[in-house]
Amino acid sequence: MGARPRFIADAMQGSLARKLRIFGFDTLYFRGGGDPELEGIARRERRLILTSDKALFAHAQGRGLRAVLVEGRTDRAWLVSVLRQVGPEMNALMGKGGASRCAVCNGELEVISKNEAEMKGVPAKVLARHRLFFRCSSCSRLYWRGRHWDRLRRISSSVKTKALT
Ligand SMILES: [Zn+2]
Repeated sequence: MGARPRFIADAMQGSLARKLRIFGFDTLYFRGGGDPELEGIARRERRLILTSDKALFAHAQGRGLRAVLVEGRTDRAWLVSVLRQVGPEMNALMGKGGASRCAVCNGELEVISKNEAEMKGVPAKVLARHRLFFRCSSCSRLYWRGRHWDRLRRISSSVKTKALT
């Protein structure tokens, strides 16, 4: 098995970048600078480029970089186009073996105890309802697996089915 694919998302793909992080994929969100800079980072860090810009997509491929042309108008459609183009290696990894990353900064999440979550100010209602709590090792944001997570899991399984058909 290869390593988990890593991504760099262009300025239009912020929402897709956040979702891939929640699924545990290391995804940079490239907001500033031009295409050559984006391609440079992709090459140095061996990241797949995510873009809906056909010109950038073609240019990157012409230079021997791996790129995904993101198509569609919904979260689901974007994820389907990523899964289709990256292939089964990614399908098998969705939601498996792994911690999520921070949706905001791409930092790694570490598990924290319920006590710690309580000390950091997670509301009692949330503490009562959930078991797993995380903290971003880079920006210290707190996460727990709640409704948003469940919704993403459902998207993930429907996306996997679609990408295979
Ligand atoms: Zn963070």
